[in-house]
Amino acid sequence: MKLLILSRGPNLYSTRRLAEAARLRGHDCEIVDPLKCYMNITANDPQVHYNGRMLSDVEAVIPRIGASVTFYGTAVLRQFEMMGVYAVNRARAIARARDKLRSLQMLAVRGIGLPVTGFAHSPEATDDLIRMAGGAPLIIKLLEGTQGIGVVLAETKQAAASVIDAFRGLKEYFLVQEYVKEAEGSDLRCFVIGGKVVAAMRRQGQKGEFRSNLHRGGHARMVQITEEERETAVRATKAMGLNIAGVDILRSHRGPLVMEVNASPGLEGIERATGLDIAGAIVEFVEHHQSKTNARRRRR
Ligand code: ADP
Repeated sequence: MKLLILSRGPNLYSTRRLAEAARLRGHDCEIVDPLKCYMNITANDPQVHYNGRMLSDVEAVIPRIGASVTFYGTAVLRQFEMMGVYAVNRARAIARARDKLRSLQMLAVRGIGLPVTGFAHSPEATDDLIRMAGGAPLIIKLLEGTQGIGVVLAETKQAAASVIDAFRGLKEYFLVQEYVKEAEGSDLRCFVIGGKVVAAMRRQGQKGEFRSNLHRGGHARMVQITEEERETAVRATKAMGLNIAGVDILRSHRGPLVMEVNASPGLEGIERATGLDIAGAIVEFVEHHQSKTNARRRRR
């Protein structure tokens, strides 16, 4: 099949691995920078152009759209969808997953376990917000943060109020969240493809660090997850309307709590920790579903 990987970084591990896996399986694969695509938005003949040529005959797209280019990247992906091209994660689902607050609301509605989370606009709500999240110690997170940057553990109510004031001063939106102490600086990353957890790792922060992000010096190991954790990861992915996702879960006394559903999960950490060929599994999923989609389209 003719496969396109929408990615800004041809040399990034995940992009390289996906291209390699696709070529190994005999596919014609091209890596295309979404920011260099331009579009012709018409009803009868939508097109995507790239470097002076039209991208035609594309059968499937694997989007690897970074958080900083969500707006334009999802617009390009949507254009491919308008052309009838199969997208393994659809533009709408990616945009939804990128909105942390909306994601939490969508997960909550489906009864998926979450850390108690508060959100407010008005400074008058600070005291109540801290109470709602169960009081100190608590976690305060920038809504737009990634890789653990902008996630603060406030040990006391006063510290929490100061951090909240600081974020407000910077005109940043933030979440106030119950601190799940029993997770002990670790979390689970469950990699979901097509309704199944295909790999899971446990990430553990450095000594004295409550954040388990690998970018913050944490390390990861393959882990056996429980049936409840598996089910939670799959339900969270479905709730967001994604086929492929990395679901981050905290192990708490009251069961698995979802922190985030990542629509463009990295492959490096999970492949290294588990030794599994996740890129190959993604391409295999695309093969199967792309052909089903095209067969349906031919029947119409
Ligand atoms: P980012 O999306 O920037 O990685 P996260 O929300 O995933 O931010 O938080 C970073 C890390 O901080 C998590 O991987 C986890 O280890 C820790 N953490 C986040 N929220 C909580 C919480 N409510 N309780 C305990 N630890 C948390």
